[in-house]
Amino acid sequence: MKAIVVGRGESRPRVIEKSRPEPGADEALVRTLRVGIDGTDHEVLSGNHGGFPEGTDHQVLGHEAVGVVEDPNGTDLATGDVVVPTVRRPPADGSNRYFDAGEPDMAPDGMYRERGIAGAHGFMAEYFTSPAEFLVPVPREFASHAFLVEPISNSEKAFELAYGSRSTFEWTPESAMVLGNGPLGLLTLAMLDERFDRTYCLGRRDRPDRTIDIIERLGATYVDSRETPVPAVADTHEPVDFVYEATGHAKHAFECVDALAPNGVAALLGIPEDWTFDVDGGRLHREFVLENKALVGSVNSSVPHFEAAKESLAAFPDWFLDELVTGVYSPDEVDAAFETGDDVIKTVVEFDSP
Ligand code: NAP
Ligand code: BGC
Ligand code: ZN
Repeated sequence: MKAIVVGRGESRPRVIEKSRPEPGADEALVRTLRVGIDGTDHEVLSGNHGGFPEGTDHQVLGHEAVGVVEDPNGTDLATGDVVVPTVRRPPADGSNRYFDAGEPDMAPDGMYRERGIAGAHGFMAEYFTSPAEFLVPVPREFASHAFLVEPISNSEKAFELAYGSRSTFEWTPESAMVLGNGPLGLLTLAMLDERFDRTYCLGRRDRPDRTIDIIERLGATYVDSRETPVPAVADTHEPVDFVYEATGHAKHAFECVDALAPNGVAALLGIPEDWTFDVDGGRLHREFVLENKALVGSVNSSVPHFEAAKESLAAFPDWFLDELVTGVYSPDEVDAAFETGDDVIKTVVEFDSP
């Protein structure tokens, strides 16, 4: 079968032939339909995040997948079920309390592997196997866009953590700002549409730009960080109740404290490289304490977040999905699939038609 991999010491994806995997006990064999590409895949390619499976000279890429059960292999799944795999798997030395509790997303480093990212092969191949407990069935009519369930689930988890931190008092948020107009930022902006009266999305692009068009069509205000840096948002627009960071620009983690309204919360999702810079830690510390502000980091997601993500995906208008997905490529068009640029938002590799 065809698989899209990165070799050790390489930074570009390529197609190789690999043998079709055999499902083990409690595992199903899945025929891959589509696998999406996000900023993390590019970070894996550049060697800034994740790592290869032990003892291999290549890593199969891809963690945002949808497929069809080819062989349920005695699991509760049925042949033909459309499924989305979760990303985290137990480490090589076996399961642990995070997996036993159904909360692998809360496992610390060393207590998990991530398919296509850290220590385990991903889903960018014609077939993959997975324990059935990590395969979330989705309605057949979602098949073409269900590769978005994984990134949406990351935001469902982040909302849960952030809103949970505000659950002890009468929090009545009205405004929210997403930092970043990449695929994760835009997906999240579309999810916030229903929850907030006023939304903003930060980028660094000139008009005309297709992401700005999407932001405005969603009813949000575009904020250009070159004209209005994050700390200036409160004065230029308004202090916001919720910030969702999806730039990976490390300064935003601290600057967003100034954009928050009193009692507000910011969720950090980006995965930055090391970067040393000056911050006035005393002022920020004071701001957190005296204004009851919170900063929450959030990574990955578990099965209940995938379930919630199905609902969010179903609520997206068709025009949004059409504008978001800027390219569908066959495995042989791998170079095009991984190309970046202002005209590219979300691309997907299609192994079989949904
Ligand atoms: P992406 O394609 O790299 O998008 C990042 C966006 O942020 C880009 O559109 C970029 O604009 C914009 N940006 C960067 N610096 C900016 C600045 N200073 N001002 C304004 N805009 C800026 O990545 P993605 O797939 O959307 O994901 C976003 C981040 O979240 C990545 O770091 C990814 O690894 C991480 N992530 C984390 C999780 C998690 O579970 N925590 C899940 C998924 C993704 P330009 O395109 O104009 O450069
Ligand atoms: C993936 C998550 C993963 C995170 C950190 C994201 O792009 O969607 O599942 O936990 O990267 O590796
Ligand atoms: Zn991802």
